[in-house]
Amino acid sequence: MVEENNPVNTVLERIRTEVRPLADGRVADYIPELAHADPNIFGIAAISAHGRRYVAGDVEGPFSVQSISKPFVYAIAVEEHGFDTVHDHVGAEPSGQPFNAISLDEHGRPANPMINAGAIVTTSLIKGEDRFERIRSMLSACAGRELSVNEDVYRSEAEAGHGNRALGHLCLAGGALVGPVEEAVQDYFRQCAVEVTVTDLAVMAATLASGGVNPVTGKRVLNRRTARHTLSIMAGCGMYDRAGEWGLRVGIPAKSGVSGGILAAAPGAFGIGVFSPPLDHAGNSVRGVAALERLSEDYDLHMLQLPTEPPSPLHSVSCHGGSLGVHLRGEIDFLAAEQVVSRLAAAVEDARITSVVVELERVSGFSDAARALLAAELTDLADAGIEATVSDPRGVQGAN
Ligand code: GLN
Repeated sequence: MVEENNPVNTVLERIRTEVRPLADGRVADYIPELAHADPNIFGIAAISAHGRRYVAGDVEGPFSVQSISKPFVYAIAVEEHGFDTVHDHVGAEPSGQPFNAISLDEHGRPANPMINAGAIVTTSLIKGEDRFERIRSMLSACAGRELSVNEDVYRSEAEAGHGNRALGHLCLAGGALVGPVEEAVQDYFRQCAVEVTVTDLAVMAATLASGGVNPVTGKRVLNRRTARHTLSIMAGCGMYDRAGEWGLRVGIPAKSGVSGGILAAAPGAFGIGVFSPPLDHAGNSVRGVAALERLSEDYDLHMLQLPTEPPSPLHSVSCHGGSLGVHLRGEIDFLAAEQVVSRLAAAVEDARITSVVVELERVSGFSDAARALLAAELTDLADAGIEATVSDPRGVQGAN
């Protein structure tokens, strides 16, 4: 659903108008097919964590996803092999070098899975003859529609991509890459040639930002922990040798591609896609970087932006006779549970209180850490002779 006249679209449109005159940067041409891109195309799309869509500018035209496939291929490898095994083959450090650098650490591993060498390795880790189909179908599930390969872009890179072949061979020599180099490189070229729109990028980003559930289709595509690992890697390494500056100025886990797209996933808030082909020296879209800088500022999307006052988990506290009722609300994480526990512990000091009821009707979710903390406090209350019960009519405590 596109939200037509509303304040979010107006902000996106204003940002687009401000950023549009930037005329720096060059369209990538080392993959000959990419050189045909129109440098004036510029679109922004955002999908909220609730699945609502906001757009400005050119958002329908397709382009090849290029390196923006890398976080998703990493995610598949993590789900298939587990985090530790994947990182036996590829590091997690920003390389401080361009995306196509010969980057191998002292263990023979590429610095991270967001640069070409690392992505060729993570591709090689994905098992089975249908490897590319699994990658395509994961990208599609994250976008919420079936995506396909632009064969011209694929062929163009397959013919010109000898640097990537060389990286594959170096990774094989160092022991990081598994299996035949040419097969891994071919599947890497194909994944880079998958066609998307800027709206697709926003939905894919929103899937990562929503803990692995595509907020438009409502389907779980990745498990929560994989989504978190992927966002962490993007936060540290997604913008190549601009990762540090990006963290300072924008602070949204992101990934860029040489066709001019940037995917940015603001955890719990928005998935954002921007597309404008001219690139800066690091290979990031000039207008894309500028637009995300403004968007992060205007909507407080920096991941380290803290609320002035964390929301209180206490909806109300009542005391009738000797019974204390503590009504909680919202999301109970460790910090919220710590506040609740300290309120409950005070009951032990109050000789009038003989029972405690913790009421969860207004609670939307419980983290494992919060659950453990509350359970420990209920045991302490029982040990102190106070009858402690939890009223959980919606079963939020068991759900995750
Ligand atoms: N297919 C491109 C390459 O390997 C992807 C690079 C990128 O988008 N940064 O060179």
